[in-house]
This record gives sequence, C-alpha cells and structure tokens, in this order.
Amino acid sequence: MFAYGHNNFTWNGTLRELEGNWNEKRGPQMTASLSSSSGLEVLLSTLQNEGDVESTLNVLSVLDELLSAGTDRRIHYMISKGGSEALLTALVNSGRSFCPNYTVLLQLLHLLAKVGHRDRRIGMKAEEAGAVLLTLNLLKHNVKHAKRAAACLWVIQVFSSSVSTANLIGQNHGLDVIFRLIPQYTTKHLHTIKAAINAFAALLSTKANVGSVVSEGYISGLLRLYEDWHSHDTQHAAVAIRHALLRCLHKVTNRTAGRQSFISQGGLSLLYRTTQECLLNKGLECLVEPSVQLMRKCLPKTPLPLISDQSAYTFPLPGRPPAVPDVDVAPDESSEESDGEETDENQEAESRDFDDDLETDLNKLRLRPDPDRPKELLPQYGRLCPELSHDFKDLDLSSEPEESSASSSSSDEDAVLLNSLSPHSSRRDKRRSNSSSDSSTSSSGSHCEMERSTEGHAPDSGQLEARDFHSYSSILSTSPGSRTMVREASGEASPGLREDEQCDEEEGAEESHHRTMIDRLLERHGACIPHHEPKLYCAAATKTKSIPGFSILAFPDFWGHLPPPGPESMAPRKPNIQRQKVIEDVQRFLNTDEIINQVVFDLEDSSFQCPSESLRFFSNFECGNLRKAVQVRRCEYDLILNADANCSQHAQWFYFEVSNMVADVPYRFNVINCEKSNSQFNYGMQPVLYSVREALEGRPHWVRTGTEICYFRNHFCPAQDRRRETFYTLTFTITFKHNEDVCYLAYHYPYTYSALKSHLKVLEKSLDPAKVFFRQQILCSTLAGNPCPVVTITACPASRAWKDMHQLRNRPCIVLTGRVHPGESNASWVMKGTLEFLCSSDLMAQSLREAFVFKIIPMLNPDGVINGMNRCDLNTEDLNRQWCKPDPVLSPTIYHTKGFLYFLNSIGRTPLVFCDFHGHSRKKNVFLYGCSVKETLWQSGSTVDTVGLKEDPGYRTIPKTLDRIAPAFSFNSCNYLVEKSRSATARVVVWREMGVLRSYTMESTYNGCDQGIYKGLQTGTRELQEMGLKFCHSLLSLTKDMRALHNRRLINHVDLDHSVLDHKSHNCFEDDEPPCVEEVEYSIDCPTLKGTDLDSDVNRNMARADDEEDGDGDDEGHRGAKQRRSSIGQSQQSSMRSRLFPHLMSQASIETLSEKRNSCNAASIANGQMTS
Ligand SMILES: [Zn+2]
Repeated sequence: MFAYGHNNFTWNGTLRELEGNWNEKRGPQMTASLSSSSGLEVLLSTLQNEGDVESTLNVLSVLDELLSAGTDRRIHYMISKGGSEALLTALVNSGRSFCPNYTVLLQLLHLLAKVGHRDRRIGMKAEEAGAVLLTLNLLKHNVKHAKRAAACLWVIQVFSSSVSTANLIGQNHGLDVIFRLIPQYTTKHLHTIKAAINAFAALLSTKANVGSVVSEGYISGLLRLYEDWHSHDTQHAAVAIRHALLRCLHKVTNRTAGRQSFISQGGLSLLYRTTQECLLNKGLECLVEPSVQLMRKCLPKTPLPLISDQSAYTFPLPGRPPAVPDVDVAPDESSEESDGEETDENQEAESRDFDDDLETDLNKLRLRPDPDRPKELLPQYGRLCPELSHDFKDLDLSSEPEESSASSSSSDEDAVLLNSLSPHSSRRDKRRSNSSSDSSTSSSGSHCEMERSTEGHAPDSGQLEARDFHSYSSILSTSPGSRTMVREASGEASPGLREDEQCDEEEGAEESHHRTMIDRLLERHGACIPHHEPKLYCAAATKTKSIPGFSILAFPDFWGHLPPPGPESMAPRKPNIQRQKVIEDVQRFLNTDEIINQVVFDLEDSSFQCPSESLRFFSNFECGNLRKAVQVRRCEYDLILNADANCSQHAQWFYFEVSNMVADVPYRFNVINCEKSNSQFNYGMQPVLYSVREALEGRPHWVRTGTEICYFRNHFCPAQDRRRETFYTLTFTITFKHNEDVCYLAYHYPYTYSALKSHLKVLEKSLDPAKVFFRQQILCSTLAGNPCPVVTITACPASRAWKDMHQLRNRPCIVLTGRVHPGESNASWVMKGTLEFLCSSDLMAQSLREAFVFKIIPMLNPDGVINGMNRCDLNTEDLNRQWCKPDPVLSPTIYHTKGFLYFLNSIGRTPLVFCDFHGHSRKKNVFLYGCSVKETLWQSGSTVDTVGLKEDPGYRTIPKTLDRIAPAFSFNSCNYLVEKSRSATARVVVWREMGVLRSYTMESTYNGCDQGIYKGLQTGTRELQEMGLKFCHSLLSLTKDMRALHNRRLINHVDLDHSVLDHKSHNCFEDDEPPCVEEVEYSIDCPTLKGTDLDSDVNRNMARADDEEDGDGDDEGHRGAKQRRSSIGQSQQSSMRSRLFPHLMSQASIETLSEKRNSCNAASIANGQMTS
C-alpha cells in the first residue's frame, strides 16, 4: 500500500488494484474503466505537475515497479495513456531546474529509456517536449559521471529511433560527444561505454549522420577501437563492448560511403583476422556471426565476368530486327513474373500483402469474357480429334496406316522418326568415327561442327553427333577394357582439345562400321531402361532445332536413366556452412596467393583452350546452359549460367558436363548468378549427378549428390545492367568417385525435348493398337520450328456397333499440359508417368481409357527446354502469363492450345478436367492450385454476400482423392484462390473462359516431402512418375460408374458433395519453410547479442550504486530507493548547480535550439564547457 500525502493525490489502493486497470484493458469492462480516470492516469498527471521531490520519486517508483513486473503490454498501455509525454515533461521540468535533482532525473531517464524504447513516436514526442537537446546537454555535463552518462545515453539511443531526432542530435555534435566516451580498452565503466557505443550506433541509422561519420574519419576510429578491444580483452569480459562496436560498423556500412570507407580502412582484413581468432573460442560465437555478415556486406560489388548480361543465345523474332533482341525486362515487370504458379521470387513481391492480389470483382470471377478470336478459326482444330472421325475399320491392325487422312502432320512426325537410324545422322557418325581414331580429334571435330551449325539458327537435319556415345563406341572398337575405355573417353570428351579440322575430312567411309560399334556398345553395356531406346533418342534429336545448332548429345539423355535402387534422404545441413563459405569467399579478396581466377570454359568462345590441369566443362547440348566457368582455386570453380535466350535474366536451372577430375578430391562449385531469393538447396535438396563410368558399369542413374550445400546472397552484380543489384550463390561440393570420369550435373533430372519425342515413339510402339487408340499429332510449330506434339489416348471401341461408337464419341475429355516453364523438368517426369500409365495394360488404365478421351500436350515450351532456358520462351515471355490473349505468331503453342480448348467448347466437349503440370522450387510435396469463387471471396475478406452464391464443390474431389492415394501429395498445400496476378495463367483462363470447373495447376517439388511415407526423402524420377500415375487414378473418382470399380476394389468411393468448405485456405504465397538457420540475405542488421537488451542494462544501472562504477566518489553512495531519495546533500547540490546547467537554459532557449535542426551549422548547446 502506498500513500502519497504530500500533495493533492492520495492513493490508498494496492499495486494489484493498479494492475487491474491494465488487465481490464483486455476484458469487456474496458469501456467502463475508461470512462473514469484510472489510477495510472492519476499517477501520470501527478508526475507532470511538478510536485515535491518525494512524491515525484514515489510516483516514479510505483511506475517502475508496475512496468518491471508486467509485460510489454503494460508499457504499451501506459504509452497509450500519454506515459511518454508525462515522463518527457517531467524530465524537462527537472532538467531545466536551477538545481537539478539527479535522483529524480536518473529515475526519470531510466523509465524513459524503458518506455521510449517501445514507443515508436518517442523521437517526435521528445522533440516536441524540448527534451532532446536537454538530454544531450545533460550528457555533456556528466561525462565524468558514469551512471548519469549511461542513463542519458540510453535515452539518446531511444530518441534516435526517429530520423529527424537522430539528425538533430548529429547536428548538435552529439556524435562527437558520444564517440569521445568510447575509450580504448579498459576494465572500468563498461556499461557506460556500452551505452555510448549503442547510442552511437543508433545515431548511425540516418544517412546524414553516416555521412559525417565517414567524412570525419570515425570508421577508422571504430576499426582501431575494435582491434584494440579484441586484442586486449583476452579474458573475454568485454564481449558486449566488442559486439556493440560491430553493431556500429554494421550501421555505418549500410550506406555505400560507409562500405567504401570500411574497405579502404582495411576493415575487411581486420575483421577476417579477428574472426579467425574468435573462431578458436566457442564463447565468441556471438562475435563471429556479426563479423561474417559484416564482411559479406562489405565485399566490393563485383560485376559478373561477362561482356554482356544478354544471353549467349539470341534468336531473331518475327517482326523484330534480329540485332535488337528484346532486352532486359524492366525492373517493375519483374514483380509480374513469379515462378509458374509459384509466388514471386522477388523480395518486393514477397512482402506483398497477398490478400490485395485476390480477385474480388464478382463479375470478373463469374462472367465469361468473349472469345479472343472469331469462331471461324475454330474448325481447324477438328483434326486434333481423330477419335471422332476414325472409323475403326481395322481394329486388329495398327491404325497408323489409316491415319493418312487424319493428319499430314502426323505422318511428318513419323517421317522424322523413321529417318531414325539412317541417312544424315549416320553419315555424321561415320565421319566422327573416322576422326576419333585419334582420340584427341573427335572433340575438335564436334566443335568444328558446332561452329558450322551456328551459322544458321536452325541446323538442317543431320547435324548431330552423339558426343559421348560416339566417343565410347569408337573406343570400344579398339580397347574393350572398360577402365581404359572410360579414361580415353573422358580424354576425348574434353571440349578444349582442338587440334585439327577433321570435320572436313572425306566422308565416304565406314558407315556400317560405325553402326556396328553403336550396336556393340549397346549390346555390351546397354542398360535395359523401360521406355527408352538410345537409337530412337538419337534419331529424334537429329531433328531438334536449337539456337546454337547443337550437334552433340549429352550422354545421360542418350543412354537413359533409371532411378537408383534406394531412397535418397534429404541432406542434413552442416552447421554454420554458410559462414564457412562466406569466409572462403572473403579470402579471395585478401589472399591472392592461392587464387587462380582463370576462365576454363566459355560458351561463347569456341576457340577456347582449357588448361590441362583444370576440370573441363561443356554444355553445348540440349538443355545445357553453362555459360562460363572460372577456376577460382585449385579445386573450386565459379559457374555462370546462361540467361534465357534473347534476355538477360532467369538463371536458375543448370545442366552441364564436367570431366578431367581426380577421384576422391572434393571440388567446390559455385553457381554465382542465381536469381531467386531463397532455395530448397537450403532445406535438404541436392543437385543431381550422372556418371558415364557408372552408367557403363550398369548403374545409369541420376543420383542426388553434393555436400556443403548452401544458397545465399553474394557480392556479384550484373556486368552491365545496374537495375538489378543482387545475385545468389548456390554452392556445393562434389567428390567424384572415379578418376577421369565424364559426369553431368544438373539442377534437377533433365528431360529433353528429344526425350519426349522418342518417348512418345516408344510408347506408340509398345501398346496394343487393338485396345488403345493412341495418336500423336502436331499442335503447331514453335518459333524455332520444332513441332509441338499433342497426343490423344483413349480406348478403342469394343466393336463398331453404334452403341460402342456412340459411347466413344461421348466420352468426356481430360486435357493435360506441361513444361510451359522449361526449368521445371520435374513436370516432364510427372507427365512421363502419366503417359506410361495411360498407355499401359493396367486395369485401371483400361477403365480410364474407356471412360475418357485424354488430350495431352506434354511440352508447351519446346524451344525453351531445348535451349536450356529456365523460365521463358524465345519471345522472352513467361508463356504461362500469355493465356488471356496469346499472340498467334509469338506464342503459337499457347495460342493453339487455347484455340483447341475453344474448339472443344464449341462442339460441346468442354473438358471435365484441365491440369497444367509445373514444378515448385520453394516448397516441398506435390499439390494443386484450383479456382473457387467462394474461397477467393472468403479469403479476401470480401463483403460480397456468398450465401446465395452457388458453387459446385467438385473442384475439391481430385485433390481430396490424391491426398489419400498419392504419397507425395499434400492437400494442405493446395488452394483454390483466384489471384489478379495470375489472371493470365492457364489454370485461371481455362476455368474462367472455358468454364472448366476442375482447372488446376499441379506443382511438384524439386526437393522432397515433409509428410507421408516419403517424409524426409528427396523426390526421384520414380516418385515423380508415380505422381503422374496417381493423378490418373484420382480421375477415376470422377467417373459415374463407380460401382464396378468398387467391386474391383480399385479405389474407394469419393463423395462428390461431402466437401464441407472450410474457410481455411492455405496461403500459397508463403514459403513452407521456417526461416533459414543462417540468413540468406546479408542486407540484414547486426545479429543481436542475447541477454543484453536495453531493459536489463537499465535495470542494472538502477540497482547499482555509483561507487561501484565510478571512481570519483560522487554523490549517491547508498543503495535503496529510500536512501537514494534523500542522499543528495545540500552542499553537493550547490556544487552541482555551478557545474551543471551553467547557462540555466530556459524552456524558451531549448525550443529555439530545437528549431535549428534544419540548419547544418546549428550552434552547439554545449556552451563550450564540455565539448573539448
Ligand atoms: Zn511453372
């Protein structure tokens, strides 16, 4: 119980009663208590009313106890009740006083520090109250008084949260005053020193203050101080001081001028050295992290070692001058391009409030816009429904010969594939085989050939060489031992060796010899890979048109891939891996001895001579996209990826060949121009590796591999384009198993356009034409002239009877598309699984074929896939943003897919399901995005009344089924929101314009799963293909004839209407991942030091008697509030009177000074006494 009898305020309540006012704030009685003035308000008004010292101290005591006992909530309540203003007024009143009572002042300052710390507007309030310069002045007059100085410094720190306040203090020499309070190493007054450093750091939040700190050389001073404290503080008693100094350096280096000064003053080497020492002591961890972040931040911006940011590949677009390709995407556009359906990777967009993006205009959600073309253009798509016109006269025969009427394009395609093993390709092969009798010449031959083909953008058919395939086959003929073979093969595979121009050699020999070698190689080593035929692949690739005119096949694509036998766990993240990598990066700037920095591969320089000691790189093949490799250290390489053709962005996907390695040596690879702000590589994902040697020994596997993996923002910037500032490094370390192997590394399991073509051919050959109606046709030609396949799969009718034919012609359509984003090869593997299942003899597949007609466009962006692009097509557009009004010339595949859908719509065959297969780089599992009006309105918090709104909940059937039957699938990751930013995606347009209720994007992770039986495992092609199969299974849930299926126990019945729509819809815009254990970004501030917050410092100061800290035997020698209150003797007060406030600043003069904040030459209020 407290009694305040000395003024007009008497409080006979208890602390608890006072607290009651806080508690009520949360309760329903709040309004009642607000009506009457609360105990707190009485306290605050007492405080401002300049009562006697004792009652003021009493009030302060009570406030302090109240605030110390509770949570931040109390302080915020107090702030809302004008607590800050009351304290500031009291401070100004006491501080102005002729004879300041330091007991009161100290209490006030302490409270103000605690309260102001949580008041975002404290700076402004302090300025209004005239408390800013008053506090600075108090500090100046108490620099020799540690405890008072500390209290002033905390308050200054708190005030400096406002830019204008910090600048005001800076203009009034606050920086000088405070900096002088930071001495060289000492063991005294540590808490005051720390307060000074923290106040100094707080002032450095403004550009003006950093500017003056840089110009006055304080950065050098800060570095010397840090060095001094670091070297003397051998007992680590002053870690907090050292940490605080690092905070200052962090603040100052947030500005360019600060970073430059930091570097020129030797900050990098100093920090590097001290960090190395700190690393030896576990107790100094807290200094390592801020030091490493600081070094990262200050590493000078380094342009990528490229002549141009523009892709090495340009393609002349129709209607545009070839020399002026579509240059960089403007920065503001970058927020438009998110990853597929995936949320935007750019930071601006990540912070976007996603609710703003939801479409809430009911008209836009429900009304179908007019078609984007006249309906006369639709009948042309009738040819893509061969099942409707086919007469099935010869059910027993292959239907192929019948098809001549159906489409000439189909026979075109056949012609391509039938050419498979002969004329041009083998002519080339024969030539290669000649030249390679000398192992060093074949690669030069390849290069020669490449050069030749780059003369034209689309090489004529036949310019194709199976690089490795060729190498191995030729070696096989001379040296059967596989060991020798691989060694020689890898020697041969090196792209750098280029001696003579064998390619012009006579071509007239040994075709049959070469053919035999292919056969022998395949016979001896050929892996039996289901649905893959190397020869067919080779033949298909012959016709593939790439911008550079690829003439070489990557071995894995040619040879084929089988998933490895066992599961592959996600890689555990090595503790502090990023720190270690950053420190290694810093060494590049400091220690030039071991730095090589030599270019060892350059896509654009075919005459390039690779040093014999280095790894050899190569990527001039389908889907390959390594642009440059730089050997940094003996076993470390920087890799630069080619941007998407015709533009300067979108590097993320990679695929390249590496050879000339030594076994059991760890090689570090850094992909230094990644663009996404975070990656699953920070969460257990590994890149994939394929070893030719292993493949020839019977293990043709892409395997997850690599250690020391992490992904973080680096110091590189574009070579020219200054609009984008940042790149990210993906670093990983590979220890190769074999000497001089030839290996391939990729972001994810590659799947080429040629693979698709040969796969379709194999499928067609594999199925029973009497049962399965399978037709491959060409949707259209791409910009580069590659045919875009469309496949029809359904069941042949049981007979030609009217009933069966009628059933066939009334089967609902299912339309599936994929790989619109070329970097999303996972989508192709899901598609592969889908196609194989649909063509299989599985009972369920048969049921599905009988129930539906499948229209599948497996690769919507062949040109992007072929040329190793990540995101766009040759037109530099994200094709999945073109669906609203696709351009017939520039986006032909989208234009015609949409046209085909319009056609189906026009003949009353609107698809039952549409699904576009994608890959998601930042989430785990597989999931669907769908479209729902109701869920979108609910999620957006729209006020539109949805009660009367009818919506078929059938869009949930497939995801619900998949959740039960597909182990990789996660229902919780699905959502059904219609976003404005995705209004031009396939999913939304097909839903809105075609009225397809079940219109989806299916996203498959690049990494793995965090739920279900695959939890903790990385996804392989087996799981991706299984996902395709399960997707097909889920379609059975839509068939009306469920009974038969039930009886066969194939699938459980799925209720179409029991979807109780829950309002909870997963937010697709957020990462699933928790924050990375190490900051991916270096732009963040100094990591905080645990247990050293302002409050605890203030509390310690309050509890501490001065003489413990202060050597000058000043006042206040006693502990305890009561004693302190009365401890200031009269004589001391008078001596203080002369020492403090000699100018007796009046309120008016303080106000005048406050107004000077905008003047650079504002007079110091120090009156000369304490400034020197
Ligand atoms: Zn995508």
